[in-house]
Amino acid sequence: SPAQIGVTGLAVMGRNLARNLARHGYTVAVHNRTSARTRALVEEFGHEGDFVPAETPEEFVAALERPRRLVIMVKAGGPTDAVIEEFAPLLDEGDIVVDGGNAHFADTRRRERRLRERGIHFVGTGISGGEEGALNGPSIMPGGSEEAHAALRPLLESIAAKAADGTPCTTHVGPDGAGHFVKMVHNGIEYADMQLIAEAYDLLRTVAGYEPARIAEVFRTWNTGRLDSYLIEITAEVLAHTDAATGRPFVDVVADRAEQKGTGRWTVQTALELGVPVSGIAEAVFARSLSGHAALREAAAELPGPRRQVLDEREAARFADQVEQALYASKVTSYAQGWNMMQAASEEYGWGIDLGAVAAIWRGGCIIRAAFLDRVRAAFAADPTLPTLLADAEFAKEIGEAQPAWRAVVATAVRHGVPVPGFSAALASYDALRAERLPAALTQAQRDYFGAHTYRRTDRAGSYHTLWSGDRSEVSADI
Ligand code: NDP
Repeated sequence: SPAQIGVTGLAVMGRNLARNLARHGYTVAVHNRTSARTRALVEEFGHEGDFVPAETPEEFVAALERPRRLVIMVKAGGPTDAVIEEFAPLLDEGDIVVDGGNAHFADTRRRERRLRERGIHFVGTGISGGEEGALNGPSIMPGGSEEAHAALRPLLESIAAKAADGTPCTTHVGPDGAGHFVKMVHNGIEYADMQLIAEAYDLLRTVAGYEPARIAEVFRTWNTGRLDSYLIEITAEVLAHTDAATGRPFVDVVADRAEQKGTGRWTVQTALELGVPVSGIAEAVFARSLSGHAALREAAAELPGPRRQVLDEREAARFADQVEQALYASKVTSYAQGWNMMQAASEEYGWGIDLGAVAAIWRGGCIIRAAFLDRVRAAFAADPTLPTLLADAEFAKEIGEAQPAWRAVVATAVRHGVPVPGFSAALASYDALRAERLPAALTQAQRDYFGAHTYRRTDRAGSYHTLWSGDRSEVSADI
């Protein structure tokens, strides 16, 4: 019988996605440039469902029922273009090409436009959850046309992760590159989340004087409350782990250099272009870069810092509680920034993204899955035009209650010389947003002084310029 869907690119992600589809009763055509991978998949996992192995692109395309649905799961970038070029001539009008790789949304927009000219639907789709997610249920973020989504929807809903309330973690995010865009922001938020958790760990270690095993216990407790999430859960696992070779805490034998594959950087670059402040994500990307600058760090290693003394047991317990509050408040602020970015892109590109629905599909399957996302969903469901999560009544109340502890933690970190770029950037963003007057007034006045960039006044309409090098009288700058 013809296959209902096909997957080309059978490395870890493609193979597991194909198996997930087959396990849900779909007949899946499978293809890979190097056909040894195709044969290996069928040999090892053929018993899990109906696979139709194809040696060539022609065979693959011929195996699919019409309109064809095929998923590309190859290395992002040039390889994706190569595969599209190879398959496009073999396809017919109305066929649907899904790109499940980590494409940049601008590439997806370009590819979608090109294929649309040929009558082919191109569905750039964010898939999160790593290989485990691909097999057992990822969070799936498809872009592309409504029509293509309608044809894919039952398949995507059956293989996606399910949230606690049973809803599949997938929704049509919006046209063309919208799916890959929100996947990128997901990863940016993931960077920020990981940085904040790392800072919380550093504070508990350096200021409270807790050992990793004890910090693991603290994270386990946090994981039963409002911070309940996959990243907090795995943090406890990692911190509780002992290195077999040395008997030391595992975290102490790992080199302190965090690498990155680039989606965090894309998020920040794109945020700069959209003019959206995402300081939490940016600090997380910079913190990873800094960690890798061996020469810089060595050159600065002897610079003076404060004398450190760990807190006594009672103070430490109180401090740990404050760190939980600071972590939560910083997390909400970083997420608020990520959501602002999706809001801005949705307007810029006319995507009509349902911001609550995005939170809903991140409740399961993906790396940032967290109990708290159900509340983000509820906040945007209650008010789809909410300008910032921080303005939601419930979040505002919680952050308001947490802010004294948040300030205390940042102040303590500064006093102890522990870098907390994530916590402090989040707090600065919070304080800047709620400020009645910002010193931006001075900045703009300086701009007028050296560049005649003009300014607006608080007391009347219009643009003005002061003749700084003349008699300092004010002139109207309106034409
Ligand atoms: P890789 O990114 O390592 O890519 C390997 C696959 O790409 C192989 O099937 C390979 O074929 C194929 N390929 C590479 N170049 C070409 C080419 N020029 N023409 C045809 N095929 C080519 O595989 P992953 O499974 O790790 O990831 C697949 C996609 O999913 C990537 O875009 C990745 O960014 C994304 N992704 C990965 C996640 C992860 O956790 N790994 C999570 C979410 C998304 P061959 O066997 O012939 O070399």
